Amino acid sequence: MTLPMNKCIFLDRDGVLNKEIGRHIMKIEEFEIPEDVPSGLARLKDNGFKLIVVTNQSGIARGYYDEKLVDDCHDLLQQQCNNAIDHFYYAPLVDHISRSLMRKPDSLMLEKGLAKFNGAVQKCWMVGDKERDLAPGKKLGIKTVQLKALVDRSKLADYHATTFSEVVDIILNS
Ligand SMILES: [Mg+2]
Repeated sequence: MTLPMNKCIFLDRDGVLNKEIGRHIMKIEEFEIPEDVPSGLARLKDNGFKLIVVTNQSGIARGYYDEKLVDDCHDLLQQQCNNAIDHFYYAPLVDHISRSLMRKPDSLMLEKGLAKFNGAVQKCWMVGDKERDLAPGKKLGIKTVQLKALVDRSKLADYHATTFSEVVDIILNS
């Protein structure tokens, strides 16, 4: 067995890599990437991090949009960010339709990423805007950064940031 060695950053999507619009992204035109995201992802990648998106997309189970839209958004992100993302996980289900261990605050998406990329939890980070993004990181012993808390600052956040560039500074300086 190989010991976990790699450093990974788990990234929530909506509100982190694309602008939060206050509801589900239902068409590609609504998927807007902040200016500092491509350069921020490049800095993280240059520093040897594996970049893994972990996003709840219950709009699929709710019938608001389909997998193709999710894939199209992820293709657009890769085009604009020089293919910086190493892997995308998304959780299409929601409790009232079907329980899912993938859906945050559960941790299966992060555990899959740790296994796939041989990630060492003490070298990994979880970045999200909501408390439910930070919970799976805390559960696994991964450091957490909360970006742009919409309501309250979460106690589950080890760090707070207001922009994606600031998130990158925090990670690279610690
Ligand atoms: Mg979010």
